[in-house]
Amino acid sequence: MSAIFDKSTPGKSAFPVPQYDIPDFDPVPERFLGGPPDLIDVDEADVVRHYTNLSHMNFSVDTQMYPLGSCTMKYNPKMNERLASLPGFADLHPLSGDACSQGALRLMHDLARYLAEITGMYEFSLAPAAGAHGELSSVMIIKKYFQEHGERRTTVLIPDSAHGTNPASVAMCGFEVKEVPSTPEGDVDIAALELMVDENVAAMMLTSPNTLGLFDRNIRRIADVLHGAGAFFYCDGANLNALMGITRMGEMGFDLMHVNLHKTFSTPHGGGGPGAGPIGVVEKLAKYLPVPRVILEGDTYRLDTGYPSSIGRVHSFYGNFLVCVRAYAYLRRLGAEGLRATSETAVLNANYLLAKLKGAFHLPVDRLCKHEFVLSDRGLPNGVTANDVAKRILDYGFHAPTVYFPLLVEGAIMVEPTETESRETLDAFADAMLAIRAEADKDPDLVKKAPHCAPVKRVDAVTAARRPVLKWDD
Ligand SMILES: *Cc1c(COP(=O)(O)O)cnc(C)c1O
Repeated sequence: MSAIFDKSTPGKSAFPVPQYDIPDFDPVPERFLGGPPDLIDVDEADVVRHYTNLSHMNFSVDTQMYPLGSCTMKYNPKMNERLASLPGFADLHPLSGDACSQGALRLMHDLARYLAEITGMYEFSLAPAAGAHGELSSVMIIKKYFQEHGERRTTVLIPDSAHGTNPASVAMCGFEVKEVPSTPEGDVDIAALELMVDENVAAMMLTSPNTLGLFDRNIRRIADVLHGAGAFFYCDGANLNALMGITRMGEMGFDLMHVNLHKTFSTPHGGGGPGAGPIGVVEKLAKYLPVPRVILEGDTYRLDTGYPSSIGRVHSFYGNFLVCVRAYAYLRRLGAEGLRATSETAVLNANYLLAKLKGAFHLPVDRLCKHEFVLSDRGLPNGVTANDVAKRILDYGFHAPTVYFPLLVEGAIMVEPTETESRETLDAFADAMLAIRAEADKDPDLVKKAPHCAPVKRVDAVTAARRPVLKWDD
């Protein structure tokens, strides 16, 4: 597809402008620009078609199934967009003052309560802007707790099945990361953990369900080992889509956690944001939560900053408010039964696909999965790789699964169908994967040179990473 500059034809314009009738009016400040501005001459249809066609070159949840593991790319009901754009929410100035913002404050207050109810945590802060930001804020809370209690703990434990943001958040807070191995069945290796836990350990961060899409069968035991040494147990709850209404982190022994509103609670996030990563904590950590907090006094809601032990502000104002509006709308519409059905369907869809694909692709851990599962490219014929499969599936009209993550599976192909895909769509995706598997045998070049139908073919990823061209020079 050509650039809009190539469509320029001298003399064309989008719409006619009346002749100006002000004497001595200089319409183009060429004196400052050093010449006429370098604009293109296109008509209105050219502009609309150019940008509409450009927008169709992307995959999106609204156009295709998007089984990108670990990202929960579910369909986001349009009603929530509509509600988030109501002028009372969208146009509310962040400095309006509590008296003029009672509805918005109530929404935040109630959303935090709903999240606490869903997860079994004592209190939530909506301030962090993403999952990784929630992790960072939580590790800051852990650090602050030990500072206040005069303890110098240096280490945070992270299993090899964790999301990659976990070690990054820990390192940013100045802790040392130690990796806990997994058993061949995909659980945390308890024996190894017991040897690693001592008085230097501040916490362990467990992604639950983990990046293999598996629910650790020893969570209560892990919690006991950590608590026995005075350490905290953190849940990376970005995969909450598998667990809502079924189990609660508070009852499993977790002390603090984050959730991703932009994954589980219906904010579109393919474009990278904005999102929200609220954090929840048990009662003894509540005083460290970020400020401001929304409190209810009598029948009036108020933003409160009077918490001397708080880690302080982690975001301007109170976080990404309109993401919270979408989450609130989503929760209110689904209700408790709807949330449980959401998670049950997400898990059912993943297991349905897994059952269809596991005969054709290598499955490192053969267990009932939660909302996603991980295959690998091991044993694919003719040197076909996970990357080749990911490129070829684009030709079949699907977004690719996540590949080469998690790192503990070599050549990983990580599939998360979500609950919003119908059985027909799941079948079509499975058929496409099975067709690619057959092509790998009979016509491997078809797979290795894919995509054939996408607007951009194979890019040179290595050169792009080593020598990125970030500026357009002509
Ligand atoms: C997506 C994800 C994160 C990071 O969330 P961001 O909002 O992208 O920062 C952390 N952990 C898990 C398990 C995730 O899936």
